[in-house]
Amino acid sequence: MASKAEPQCFGRPRAAAGQAGVAEVVVVGAGIGGALLALALARRGVRVAVVDLHATYPDDFRCEKLNAEQAAMLADLKLLDCFGADAGALTERGFRYDALVAGVRAAWPKAVRFTEGRAVAVERTADLQTLVLADGERIEGRLIVMATGPSDKLRASLGVRRKLVRERHSVCIGFTLTPPPGGGFDEGGLVHHGERAGDGMAFASFFPAQGGMRVNLFAYRGPRDAWTLGFRDDPLARLTEAMPGLTPLLAGAQVVGPAEIRATDLYETEGHELDGVVLIGDAFRSCCPATGMGVTRLLTEIRLLVKTYLPAWLATPGMGADKLAGFYADPAKLRIDERAARRAETGRSTSTRTSLPWRARRSLAELKRTVVAAARKPVAPAKPQS
Ligand SMILES: Cc1cc2nc3c(=O)[nH]c(=O)nc-3n(C[C@H](O)[C@H](O)[C@H](O)COP(=O)(O)OP(=O)(O)OC[C@H]3O[C@@H](n4cnc5c(N)ncnc54)[C@H](O)[C@@H]3O)c2cc1C
Repeated sequence: MASKAEPQCFGRPRAAAGQAGVAEVVVVGAGIGGALLALALARRGVRVAVVDLHATYPDDFRCEKLNAEQAAMLADLKLLDCFGADAGALTERGFRYDALVAGVRAAWPKAVRFTEGRAVAVERTADLQTLVLADGERIEGRLIVMATGPSDKLRASLGVRRKLVRERHSVCIGFTLTPPPGGGFDEGGLVHHGERAGDGMAFASFFPAQGGMRVNLFAYRGPRDAWTLGFRDDPLARLTEAMPGLTPLLAGAQVVGPAEIRATDLYETEGHELDGVVLIGDAFRSCCPATGMGVTRLLTEIRLLVKTYLPAWLATPGMGADKLAGFYADPAKLRIDERAARRAETGRSTSTRTSLPWRARRSLAELKRTVVAAARKPVAPAKPQS
């Protein structure tokens, strides 16, 4: 049995965990997925090497808000501390994606070996993998986890094919407002859904963030449509035209800075069952931002890897594709991928289709939201009887 002082890896002495110098897991890509996985593994005593194009994640318009389910998953993985917040506080305010990633990377223990560079190839065997960087550096590890997001080059070099489900499935438009005088918003923000059948509007989410009230508008429009590009000139006017119900709430609000526009292609991957390599997050498949499930998918994968699969994989020799296949076939992973894909489709159809069944679905969803909102309203205490 290991003495208390001995370093542990998934509950076994470090000496048994493999040759010194060779990483047990090499994580390629340290966006939110790779950065969180590296942190969770390093805290469990796994030897982790990380490679990313950038030492500091560049400013980018991506996920800006976490929901309660995601905060609960982070708490379950004991990863909340790197956001400097409890679960409640984390979901109340927005953030810039690069700041979120920076917070996670800053929490890495010193043992995480980080290399700034572009991974260009993977040489694979059933037990030892070598990641090759553009400058010729080679990094060895038993398993390579690809968390490279949507970029395709490295994935394609491994023979993994990108299967397009729908090009430009949705668009997300982000901008910041100074809140209108006299409030108008609840402290936590507001979600306002599309108002007309067939208008292609999913919802606008308003939440407090640094610099004011942040708006994320999700719509099923092309990124180069005149409608979408109009947000560059006057986001507030375009928003209230599309959602007139917001006009009284936004009277007097001012836009701060430019509007950001980001389209999402829906894609899956084929041919990802490989010796020595596992794909997670947007590297495995994209997620429509309007579903709010990109990070939920990632956290589900991280939870499975950290709690179930990696302890078993590292404890036995070999990293063949047959051994790794259980991860892709795990019921929890299949369920979350299926839920995200279904939400992406029904969200789009509910906002863009005008046939009777879809109008009925839309009305039902509106009714559900009204009932839920009414149930959440605090009940005024009964007046004492005189
Ligand atoms: C506008 C927008 C809004 C969104 N809103 C939400 C939301 O509200 N809720 C939600 O849950 N999700 C949302 N999402 C989705 C979410 O942001 C993504 O699912 C998530 O960020 C994916 O993270 P990732 O770690 O897989 O990839 P990324 O964050 O893209 O990280 C990939 C990393 O890989 C590195 N890399 C790539 N290629 C190489 C290489 N060859 N060598 C070395 N490094 C490499 C990159 O530098 C990068 O750091 C939104 C997305 C967008 C675009």
